[in-house]
Formats: sequence, structure tokens, C-alpha cells
Amino acid sequence: MLRCDFCGVDTELVARVALDKDYDRLTVRHEKRYACPACSEKKEKERLKRAAEKPAVSVKQ
Ligand SMILES: [Zn+2]
Repeated sequence: MLRCDFCGVDTELVARVALDKDYDRLTVRHEKRYACPACSEKKEKERLKRAAEKPAVSVKQ
């Protein structure tokens, strides 16, 4: 049994989440953590949202 590092739930199904380097710069840097399916999905959505907000350098207009 593993524990989700985000919400603390005990779960047998976890995903390893690689946090972005600037996600939690005060505590951990680019650390792999375990997330339950719900937290994994949440983190992935947050990551995609942040990625979408960043201007794409290589895109020509
Ligand atoms: Zn969780």
C-alpha cells in the first residue's frame, strides 16, 4: 500500500509525478512524488494550464 503525497490517501494505484522545477521552489526541487489517480489528474491539468499560459517561443506569427 502506498500513500498519496498530495492528499495523504492510502492507495494501491499511484502515479509518479515529476513536479516542475518551479512548482514548489521553497520546499522541493523537481522531486518525484506519488499521487493517487485524482491528484495525478489534477496535477496534470495544472501542468498543462501553466504550459498553455507560457508564451511559445518557437511559434511564428
Ligand atoms: Zn491524492
